[in-house]
Amino acid sequence: MRLDELTWKEVGEYLRSNRQMIVPIGTCEQHGPHLPLNTDTLVVDKLAEYLSEEAGMLVGPTLNYGVNLPCDRGYAGTCSTTKELLKGFFGSLLKWWKEQGFRRFFVLSAHGDPHHIEALEASDPETVVVLELYDFDMTGVLEKQHGAKHACEAETSVMMYLFREKVRSAEIQDFETPFEDFKPYLIHEKIEAIEGAPGNQGYPSWADAEKGKILFSRMKKHALEWLLRNTEKERSKK
Ligand SMILES: [Zn+2]
Repeated sequence: MRLDELTWKEVGEYLRSNRQMIVPIGTCEQHGPHLPLNTDTLVVDKLAEYLSEEAGMLVGPTLNYGVNLPCDRGYAGTCSTTKELLKGFFGSLLKWWKEQGFRRFFVLSAHGDPHHIEALEASDPETVVVLELYDFDMTGVLEKQHGAKHACEAETSVMMYLFREKVRSAEIQDFETPFEDFKPYLIHEKIEAIEGAPGNQGYPSWADAEKGKILFSRMKKHALEWLLRNTEKERSKK
């Protein structure tokens, strides 16, 4: 159920029984030499579709841009907005929807940049809850990593499961920056490209569709629990 495929009358009808909306946020960001720039957008849309069906909730139009690491600026095609602009822009959209009666926005992000997440959370702290899609337990699935990195064993596996035809397997390269060295890039302190990096972090050569299938089903479970938990909170407020 996509909001922008309905008429204003139909959205009004929906609002009589439900004041909540799912909003997927993607990025236009390099994902190594083997995954397309819209990787986050593709996955976030898939998950939004699933949650919408399970919870009978409308999905707002996907925002295809976010806040990316400045050190990624040299990877052709990647673009980013700033934390302040994302916060202001997204908040300005929510303001109109709130005037019409929406009260809770379930914001989905497959992109974990802390500046990006903070901007979304700050866009309207009263109504917004943000879920980082890859923030769930991956124990027993990954062989080379403990959790998600970037275009890595985890993210590439999910893409191989959901969008096999979009993965350029022959181009895959592993690349690891120890967390301590990576941290200044993550908090946007260092802005030059990481020397020799193909764009991804971690071990995509260990990815496969079978792992992706398990990871995606855990992601769905984790997201649905989050959605229902917050819906419950909303109900008990009334
Ligand atoms: Zn990603």
